Amino acid sequence: MKPQNDLLSATGTTVFTVMSALAQQHGAINLGQGFPDYEGPEDVVRAAAEALLDNRNQYPPLTGLPELRQAVSDANRRFYGLEIDPNAEVVVTSGATEALIACLMAVLNPGDEVVLLEPLYDTYLPVVKLLGAVPRLVRLSPPKWELPRAELAAAFGPRTKAILLNSPMNPAGKVFTGAELAFIADLLQRHDAYAICDEVYEHLTFDGWKHIPLMTLPGMRERCMRIGSAGKTFSLTGWKVGYITADRSLAPNVAKAHQNLTFTTAPNLQRAVALGLAKEDAYFTGIATELQARRDLLARGLSELGFGVLPTQGSYFITCDFTTLGFAGDDVAFCRHLTEAAKVTAIPVSAFYAGSDAPRHFIRFAFCKRESVLEEALERLRAWKRSGALAAAG
Ligand code: PMP
Ligand code: GLN
Repeated sequence: MKPQNDLLSATGTTVFTVMSALAQQHGAINLGQGFPDYEGPEDVVRAAAEALLDNRNQYPPLTGLPELRQAVSDANRRFYGLEIDPNAEVVVTSGATEALIACLMAVLNPGDEVVLLEPLYDTYLPVVKLLGAVPRLVRLSPPKWELPRAELAAAFGPRTKAILLNSPMNPAGKVFTGAELAFIADLLQRHDAYAICDEVYEHLTFDGWKHIPLMTLPGMRERCMRIGSAGKTFSLTGWKVGYITADRSLAPNVAKAHQNLTFTTAPNLQRAVALGLAKEDAYFTGIATELQARRDLLARGLSELGFGVLPTQGSYFITCDFTTLGFAGDDVAFCRHLTEAAKVTAIPVSAFYAGSDAPRHFIRFAFCKRESVLEEALERLRAWKRSGALAAAG
């Protein structure tokens, strides 16, 4: 048989699926894959259920239902002061994953360079490569994950078409500062490049950290494609409803990419998400406050256990250094050991790096779980530490 697609043949199953399967196999509490174990807002879920029954179940318009495009436009004004034309500058997609692919397709030609920041979400690299573009990787380093300005500037050149920026950042939990964004904006202008802004955790920031869309900086409105996800904003990750905000000069190509990927997204879910985006401010501050309490619970417990817990300013995730515990193997071995011996699952952070020189002593825990589940996970980790299983494995 002729060989199939080289890139996909060389790509493994996503670490999230692998670790969720391992968790299930061992009866472990799954703090790996980032999905809440609680339901989203009842009114939003009910709206989706009711919307199935009123005869609007055929193809919605290509760029999304008018009520959701209007809601995305209104949310842009309410949260960020952005004036967005709902008829020309919003495209609804089947999740942020599709949105990312559509935005990359909209601007990239084979051979174009794309600047990516490590650690990175695992969809980015395969998609950039499948489109024939060339990734230019710049690495952020723990514990502060500061933007390495000289390296970033050096990664930009005459062939740079775009940067893919994720803030708040998975898995680092970093929220980019206004000064870092201004530095990126300057590079984009000097090199005439675009930005694909993965902002799925836009409303999940803590300790007074505020998410700033790169699109709000001077000169950036025409260069940025800003991506949101109802999965994250409404704790409904299975719905896969994403939304792109892009200038009218970019949106048509984004829409044409979407037309060839999925063409459209389930209409009942779109209508329910429109209702969700119109919720009062207290909803949006409330999800962040609740999540911050879950973060604190897990961070405190992990610190007491001896993990080197890094700060988290936003997202669903805590990153920890586990060398402090004295385990001899790498992050993949440690996550396997934790799943089997402690019955708690985390994600090895090396999965978020492209090269073989990735750091191998960090793991990621998701804290978007019920407090009783986080308590139980900590209790299991305490029992595991007392049991001496670590010394036997290390
Ligand atoms: N980007 C990042 C950084 C993510 O963590 C995720 C995880 N779900 C996505 C994109 C994909 O979002 P969606 O589920 O809406 O496709
Ligand atoms: N974004 C989720 C995470 O980082 C996973 C999404 C997925 O499994 N594709 O855990």
